[in-house]
Amino acid sequence: MTVFALVDCNNFYASCERVFQPRLIGRPIVVLSNNDGCIIARSDEAKALGIPMGAPYFKFKNYLEKQEVIILSSNYALYGDLSNRVMTTLSSFTPKSEIYSIDECFLDLSGFEHLKLTEYCQHIRQCVFQWTGIPVSIGIGKTKTLSKISNLLAKKSQKTNGVLDLYNSPWLDIALQRIAVGDVWGIGRRWSKALQERGIITAYDLKESPERWIRQKFGIVGLKTVKELQGISCIEIEDESPQKQTVCISRSFGSTLTDYLALKSVIATFADMASCKIRKHGLAARAINVFIQTSPFNPEIEQYNKSITLGLHPQTNNFQDIHGAALKCLDKIFKPNIRYKKAGVILIDLIKPEDVPPNLFHPPSHTSDELSKVCDSINQRFGFGLIQLGQVKKSRTWYMKQNYKTPSFTTRWDELPRAR
Ligand SMILES: [Mg+2]
Repeated sequence: MTVFALVDCNNFYASCERVFQPRLIGRPIVVLSNNDGCIIARSDEAKALGIPMGAPYFKFKNYLEKQEVIILSSNYALYGDLSNRVMTTLSSFTPKSEIYSIDECFLDLSGFEHLKLTEYCQHIRQCVFQWTGIPVSIGIGKTKTLSKISNLLAKKSQKTNGVLDLYNSPWLDIALQRIAVGDVWGIGRRWSKALQERGIITAYDLKESPERWIRQKFGIVGLKTVKELQGISCIEIEDESPQKQTVCISRSFGSTLTDYLALKSVIATFADMASCKIRKHGLAARAINVFIQTSPFNPEIEQYNKSITLGLHPQTNNFQDIHGAALKCLDKIFKPNIRYKKAGVILIDLIKPEDVPPNLFHPPSHTSDELSKVCDSINQRFGFGLIQLGQVKKSRTWYMKQNYKTPSFTTRWDELPRAR
């Protein structure tokens, strides 16, 4: 039988911010979404102050200042890189793992039982902390759903010291009684209401509920959840991430844009970022979508939302091709005298070039795409945007409002942390 462990980083974004800024340790921190709109992460200290998740920043600004909460803009370059380090570290402890989200990873620990699972997981936890600076909690169970629940309890209870093993535990039912049904993986707010109306309040109640009724009401997905709570594994670890279907680069601007040239530079930059991303995955796109939008929160201005999709024949990941196609799209949808607030470029229908059936009318070009490769390696080394096609305006006046962003400590040479 498979031993499932779920590793979850504690308050991930806040923890990332602390790695290179020890002065933040022990202080309440909140991290804001793009354009400093909402609160998307909180440290334990901030949670204790009663600051809700997802709250709009402007509503809490005064309160946060009064409580001397540290306010930070999101720093995705830092979070992405540290996530990568955590995941690489974790993959060295077992041959089979699945990255579930930026801060969560399932491990298959079957065959490690002789090491005593709790001790082994404590060891993993210490290594991750020592090698990356990120604190994690680990829950162990007979199924993915149970490992999620163990993890919740490991985080809640100081006694566990960050690791809880419910794999062969006599305490399993008691543990399930402490978990609200809405906190069970996959149940969510919508289902929990219907369940509560039926008197199913805890995870334990759900485990004991009549399967036929569950099947009728919530289908096979609901039934799987109940089986998983009973310790019968229905959801396997997927160690190969499914191939990406699309890549989207989009942003809201710090202020609105009306100027065609400014918007052109935005779209060109997004196109270059998107094509760089698919080259990294060894994929090519068969279509591109470009969209431009006004702000729906400003009803006084003229609203305009337009998007267009263009086929790419043959499929391509060449940066000039995609750059050119994106600008062609923009020309077709651009309307003057509009105050644009958001734009994006989506590459669609991604495919590995070797999986494409040969086309009589578009024979594959045999010249390798050296120019894209050289640009990627330069941008990789010196930071994205150092080398781009000539039309891109250098000043990024449109860029996101991020008034409180910490440096990209690990991904930009000029922002490396300094030791005094
Ligand atoms: Mg987490």
